[in-house]
Amino acid sequence: MRFDEMELQAPILRAVQEMGFEEMTPIQAEAIPVVMTGRDIIGQAQTGTGKTAAFGIPMLQMINPKSRALQALILCPTRELAIQVAEEIRKLAKFLHGIKVLPIYGGQDINKQIRSLKGGVQIVIGTPGRVMDHMRRHTLKMDQVKMITLDEADEMLNMGFREDIETILQDLPEERQTLLFSATMPKPIMEIVANYQKDAALVKVVKKELTVPKIEQYYYEVRPNTKLEVLCRLLDMYDPKLSLVFCNTKKQVDELVSALQLRGYFAEALHGDLKQVQRDRVMETFRSGKTDILVATDVAARGIDVDDVEAVFNYDIPQDDEYYVHRIGRTGRAGRTGRAFSFVVGREIYKLKDIMRFCKTKVHLQPIPSLNDVSAIKAEKIMDRVFEVIENNDLEDMLRIIEDKVNEYDISSLEVAAAFLKMQMGDSDASLEQEKGMEFGDTGAEAGMVRLFINLGKKQKVRPGDILGAIAGETGMPGKLIGSIDMYDKYTFVEVPREYAAEVIQVMKNAKIKGKSINVEPANKK
Ligand code: ADP
Ligand code: MG
Repeated sequence: MRFDEMELQAPILRAVQEMGFEEMTPIQAEAIPVVMTGRDIIGQAQTGTGKTAAFGIPMLQMINPKSRALQALILCPTRELAIQVAEEIRKLAKFLHGIKVLPIYGGQDINKQIRSLKGGVQIVIGTPGRVMDHMRRHTLKMDQVKMITLDEADEMLNMGFREDIETILQDLPEERQTLLFSATMPKPIMEIVANYQKDAALVKVVKKELTVPKIEQYYYEVRPNTKLEVLCRLLDMYDPKLSLVFCNTKKQVDELVSALQLRGYFAEALHGDLKQVQRDRVMETFRSGKTDILVATDVAARGIDVDDVEAVFNYDIPQDDEYYVHRIGRTGRAGRTGRAFSFVVGREIYKLKDIMRFCKTKVHLQPIPSLNDVSAIKAEKIMDRVFEVIENNDLEDMLRIIEDKVNEYDISSLEVAAAFLKMQMGDSDASLEQEKGMEFGDTGAEAGMVRLFINLGKKQKVRPGDILGAIAGETGMPGKLIGSIDMYDKYTFVEVPREYAAEVIQVMKNAKIKGKSINVEPANKK
């Protein structure tokens, strides 16, 4: 389902377009129409499936920009999530005039928040504790609130926010819409649903059985800014006849195509913004092999029927398990060899594991090819061509030129050959920090993560949110990539993605949490 098939305000459609969303995710397609009728809803879908827009879009649709009163409230479990959700909603509201969106969370100066609130804010995204704080101070007035969303409700309950949430719900006007989103539906959630929602529609994204083609599937642990380099290395190494690279947004497709072209690859974009003639032209050059890399979104690639695709890359892990199957089904056709490569950033590994479970398939972790691996294989390929040329050509004239030069200068023919090989190989960008990260060995963390020891604990009145906030804030790493946080009296263990571990340790050395200097080091294996 497309966004423009729904009765959305033009500015919202424009924002969605600019964000590069092409089609609604399943939870969006099911939830948005229901919420727009004014009904309460319980939405259940995995992470990364676009739940923020699923409630954010209908929320923006009903806000009255002429009134400066608080009209919608979103509760999130952590500061990081509150910021993230606020960012996504601000993007969605970019072309709507007069709508103010404000995240409020613990750890930030409350007076600053109060000043911002006084300016008139229609949408507040907050952590339950801080929202309660403002309610007590009467700096958040709930009497005009028409919609409340409990985002990641299960997480909020896990973090002990149940009482706060109930207090907030009790304080809201009777006449309101209550949305609840959660990955799981444990009993306490059902109790909240029963007590605070009216006739809620249950929207659960159920999955279909799918069969996965029998092709080799690999995944690589990368970080966002090394994806391009890893893709290039794999392209160089495997040298697939034709490759399909999938991204989740049109914007990412365009950016990747430019980056690949800049590096000298023959790549073209295929996405929904292309007119039919452009699309036909792109497909024609791909079929004929003039461009050997097609970068596409899921929707645009639907119905592509090309037999010689030897590699599919999931540059972004697909939003939906079904997409994974569709994507990799584009290779290994008609009995040809096919390979699928997936790039996984930090906790996206859960999405991939989910895909493996759901599709009953194995995707194997592979180390990122080092520059040496790539060079050896490239050299091999060039030498194959050299042998062919020697075999099939009369090289008399060339030999004479080389001979002259070798005599004239103080060089050997071996050196000349080596120089030619080097010129053919081109140079790879060695900027991969990726190889790092591996040095930590086993710290007792789960796959893809490193467990870090921090010398602060409950006794110092530090909470998991402070640690999460500090790491996310200092490193700029999205908070959702941070794994489990185990807090003891005097110390804490926190898991971070392997690729970020070195940076976290480095940066946190000079950071303070609640004014206290800290020490961070890799944990010993449990
Ligand atoms: P969830 O809350 O379900 O974990 P998010 O709302 O955080 O998921 O969305 C995950 C990512 O997917 C975000 O980067 C978001 O911008 C993107 N996204 C959301 N909807 C779409 C869509 N329809 N098409 C492409 N990307 C989308
Ligand atoms: Mg979310």
